[in-house]
Amino acid sequence: MGNITDKQITLDSRYLRMAQIWAENSYCRRRQVGALIVKDKMIISDGYNGTPVGFENICEDDDDHTKAYVLHAEANAITKVAQSNNSSLDATLYVTTSPCIECSKLIIQAGIKRVVFGEYYRMTDGVQLLCRAGIECIHLVQNGDTFTPHIISRDE
Ligand SMILES: [Zn+2]
Repeated sequence: MGNITDKQITLDSRYLRMAQIWAENSYCRRRQVGALIVKDKMIISDGYNGTPVGFENICEDDDDHTKAYVLHAEANAITKVAQSNNSSLDATLYVTTSPCIECSKLIIQAGIKRVVFGEYYRMTDGVQLLCRAGIECIHLVQNGDTFTPHIISRDE
């Protein structure tokens, strides 16, 4: 993978910051995650982790475990595109936490070509799967107001 231009880093960091703000919509207590899908410099979808439409806005069960039917931010953003007239083909996904393996499968099948994420999820098998599928994965490391891109290579 090539280098990222300064202009692209600026755009990427702004969209990631927007995804961080969008995560505040989540009513999940354990972790709030936000995602945006951008294509041709337009935001075509957004998502945050939560229960499906029509379910109560509570993500955790009585033991404070996340309910099995909670959708991750990426899954909500991708399925929102499915209801629209847009296409996620060749789009970029911005997500505040690196995708899990289940969301990574959806990202691959949705034709998304770039994934930019903030912090690392505890499991990294999702990112590894994306790399195997040839999707460009960028970890934007935040230090105060400064973002530094780290392009993930296949063998990480
Ligand atoms: Zn996920």
